[in-house]
Amino acid sequence: MEELKELYQQVILDHNKNPRNFGELPTCNRHAEGHNPLCGDQIEVFILVDEDTGKIEDVRFKGAGCAISKASASIMTTLLKGKTIEEAKELFEQFHKVVTSDPSSNADIINLGKLAVFCGVREFPARVKCASLAWHTMLNALDNHTTTKVSTEQV
Ligand code: ZN
Repeated sequence: MEELKELYQQVILDHNKNPRNFGELPTCNRHAEGHNPLCGDQIEVFILVDEDTGKIEDVRFKGAGCAISKASASIMTTLLKGKTIEEAKELFEQFHKVVTSDPSSNADIINLGKLAVFCGVREFPARVKCASLAWHTMLNALDNHTTTKVSTEQV
């Protein structure tokens, strides 16, 4: 497990240093802002949904925050492209389970794929909100056609 943890840490550091899909998406039709007052993380998520197929055509984010919040947003964007809104919501549920489940139960780690990098987060409860911010913001963006603001202190 130690080697795996080190690998996951490297993935998070890499995404923090070179965030994927970073920046605004002027053509987006879903957008939301998220704020985690406990840490000071701020994230904006831009999503372009194809209204005919219901698939996520493109997704980008911008914001400032700690390494975990930024890496989590970056990894999230790489997972969302091409997914339907329903699949994106399922992914959110899976992610939520990963970061909130018992740290000692790693039995399900094999099936998590890229989400497995978040296993390390659940050992640091204060960091769960940092990692969750982008995901809550994404969910909010999908549910609202207009700009909305979310705070981790209201969810
Ligand atoms: Zn943070």
